[in-house]
Amino acid sequence: MSSIEGTVEPVVIIGAGHAGATLAGLLRQQRFAGAITVIGDESHAPYHRPPLSKKFTDDSMVQWLKPIEFYADNDIELLLGVRAVRIDRDSRQVILDNGDHRKYGTVVIATGATPRMIPVPGADAAGVLTLRTIPDAQQLGTALDRTKALAVIGGGYVGMEVAAVARSRGIDVTVVEREDRILARVASRELSRRLTDYHVARGTRVVTNFDVAGFETTDGDITSVLSGDGTAIACDHALIGIGAVPNVELAQQCGVHCDGGILVDRVGHTNVPGIMAIGDVTRRPHDALDGLYRLESIPSAVEQAKHAAAAIGRAHGGAHETPWFWSDQFDLKLKIAGLLEEGISTIAREGEVPGSFGLFHLRPDRTVCAVETANSPKDFMAGKKLISERIPVDPTLLADESVPLRDIMAAGEKARS
Ligand SMILES: Cc1cc2nc3c(=O)[nH]c(=O)nc-3n(C[C@H](O)[C@H](O)[C@H](O)COP(=O)(O)OP(=O)(O)OC[C@H]3O[C@@H](n4cnc5c(N)ncnc54)[C@H](O)[C@@H]3O)c2cc1C
Repeated sequence: MSSIEGTVEPVVIIGAGHAGATLAGLLRQQRFAGAITVIGDESHAPYHRPPLSKKFTDDSMVQWLKPIEFYADNDIELLLGVRAVRIDRDSRQVILDNGDHRKYGTVVIATGATPRMIPVPGADAAGVLTLRTIPDAQQLGTALDRTKALAVIGGGYVGMEVAAVARSRGIDVTVVEREDRILARVASRELSRRLTDYHVARGTRVVTNFDVAGFETTDGDITSVLSGDGTAIACDHALIGIGAVPNVELAQQCGVHCDGGILVDRVGHTNVPGIMAIGDVTRRPHDALDGLYRLESIPSAVEQAKHAAAAIGRAHGGAHETPWFWSDQFDLKLKIAGLLEEGISTIAREGEVPGSFGLFHLRPDRTVCAVETANSPKDFMAGKKLISERIPVDPTLLADESVPLRDIMAAGEKARS
């Protein structure tokens, strides 16, 4: 697959989401000369999903990834409302649901994920919603106009963001969470505690250890959420936000190894030559850690698109990666970098602005593995640098808010050299 000279075989990207569309753009940016096709089963051009849970009541909710003319201007064939139904490895073709096909030299699976459903009675009732796409967000926005009581099932980032928007509009909001805390899978205990307090102080009810057993309905409309022990939470709408399942079917059908996502290497190669995968659908190794991770975030999708573009165009690979993520809840701008797994202690720095903070999570060797911040860009930037450069910190200095972070970093760099 040569980028500038020689025979250039076509690249077919399945999934017109953040990862797929970014990859197409990057390939052209690095002057990849072959045909590029992006196949998307949604009817919309590629768009940003983060505003869907933060601005679903605003006109600014729909934000295109690129201006629509970008694709034609860059000779990228964008097929919308079309589903890829099979990858034929022998003939190197992607078969589409409209009977058409596209030949590939490299096919990149970027099919993302689908909201996880709860297989309980009443889950198909009117008023039980999920959130992944523009139509989902439009439906949620419209429903909110007539919602008096909203139950959010699952205290993950998407659920907590929706809860914050709904509560800000005066709706009675209850978040029910199966674990003993919100954000159990993705945040530290300390961040979960602080965010729970923030939501509760604004009138949201947060009910933990609540395992949803069903939805009660009247004439097909939801009236309450039920737990296994019979507790009922009355509501007229519910949003299910309990994570997303990777769309691995195409990969599985053609012999690509999957295990909780399509298994890829750091660059995006699968076990099958000519088939790559990127984005939410993948499980992959990470620079700084052992094991495989399915990271569902924009920075991760973009990072993978960069690596894949470099590999397809045979360009130089991307730099060292530090995973990061953001979330907006009420007036809190949360920014999180790194991964918590190796952390054994947490040091909190309260910010100068009331309510702002940085939580630094340290490994046994006193390097920072993750930082969780609220309204504190300084802590975020410093934390990200500490993580990516593995600079050791003195915990006593870090705990002392009168010591500037730049001095702590300088001391760490000196100690290391
Ligand atoms: C409501 C919401 C809020 C979020 N907020 C944040 C945030 O604040 N910060 C952050 O970093 N991340 C956030 N994320 C996560 C982020 O949006 C995802 O990590 C990112 O969109 C992943 O990109 P992707 O291209 O892998 O998958 P997707 O964006 O899901 O794109 C995959 C596309 O492939 C299509 N597809 C699937 N199968 C086929 C097929 N067979 N043929 C054709 N097309 C197919 C899908 O319909 C979809 O359009 C949020 C996600 C959601 C849903």
